[in-house]
Amino acid sequence: MDPKNISLEMRDYIWEMGAETLNWCMQCGLCTNLCPWRLVPGETSESFNIRHMQRLGQMGMEGFEDEKSLFACTTCGTCQVNCPRGVKIIDNVRAMRASIVGAGMAPGSLRPILGSAHANGNPWSGPREKRTEWQSGLDVPQFGPDREYFLFVCCHSCYDPRSTKIAKSIVRLLTAAQVSFGVIGVEESCCGESMRKIGDEELFQKLAESNIGLFNGRGVTKIITTSPHCTWSFKNEYPAMGGEWEVFHYTEILDRAVQQGKLSFSRETGKRVAFHDPCYLGRHGGLYEPPRNLLKSLPGCHAVELNRTREMSLCCAGGGGRIWGEVPMGERFGELRIEDACARGAEILATACPYCVNMLTDACTSLGRQDALEIAELSEVLSRTLS
Ligand code: SF4
Ligand code: SF4
Repeated sequence: MDPKNISLEMRDYIWEMGAETLNWCMQCGLCTNLCPWRLVPGETSESFNIRHMQRLGQMGMEGFEDEKSLFACTTCGTCQVNCPRGVKIIDNVRAMRASIVGAGMAPGSLRPILGSAHANGNPWSGPREKRTEWQSGLDVPQFGPDREYFLFVCCHSCYDPRSTKIAKSIVRLLTAAQVSFGVIGVEESCCGESMRKIGDEELFQKLAESNIGLFNGRGVTKIITTSPHCTWSFKNEYPAMGGEWEVFHYTEILDRAVQQGKLSFSRETGKRVAFHDPCYLGRHGGLYEPPRNLLKSLPGCHAVELNRTREMSLCCAGGGGRIWGEVPMGERFGELRIEDACARGAEILATACPYCVNMLTDACTSLGRQDALEIAELSEVLSRTLS
């Protein structure tokens, strides 16, 4: 990471793109020490240093552009919530990335993702008309004036075959809880959360404007999301652009239904289940209790806590566009998480985010632990105990 040139124009551009707190950084280095990249060996770990990168940004220096430095941040937020100066580190990373991506120099591995989101409205190279194929075999209601909630299904759960099971489970659970909900379908676009974190501001604006026009045009007032990334973006990024709705992650709706006696689970689970807090549900979203309450409501379920949990939960490494990154075996955060779960004797490692499911499943397979530990989305664990 050798700095080359000082550019005041670059410094000002980064600030304008949202790095308004970059100069608050006093270079204490706590962020670097807390970063999960410190927990794994390898080339990326050696080159990724968030404190140093921010120093380069403050000076408008080059040297942070590399895929193994600037684009390695998973936006997990562990550093940010502990920064003594309250520096908005993720906004700084996003703004620095925007200076690269906006100049047409996105890393090669991310270009097809961004291209697909531009062309198809989703990053998974899925044709728009196939966005609703996951509904096959299910009676999924359409959203209209007679429906209280609009169910927004994450692109990952619309197109990824493993992840479509999550969308199906959530629909079964909402139906069982007699929640008034409906979907819109092929006109929906990706929430754009990862696109913005990658630094493609123009793409994010395009996706968000399309969704806001669609949702407002259909009279949406309340949204249920299947992914905490969508929840976070709708709640925190869309209001400034005219998208103001009540937004809930599905675990909040189901937790409330259980408390109100509208939803119950009858089949015995009989397994030791550990819950992995997704960064965007927990640290970013502050939702720690709903998934735990739901696990506790399962008959015969032995819920166990992992040793890195809640505010200090270990990132799966799928945020900030990293779900599309290639990381060699032995250098994946998820592998540490599998070890955490096995150390607690868990038979199921449940989570509440499609990205976490993806990353943890890969890690479990690479460690050869798939026979001892099942990786599941919480909705899947819940829906199989419905009578
Ligand atoms: S923890 Fe905060 S103040 Fe310390 S180096 Fe990191 S960003 Fe700067
Ligand atoms: S957000 Fe997470 S991955 Fe990014 S620098 Fe901070 S601790 Fe590291």
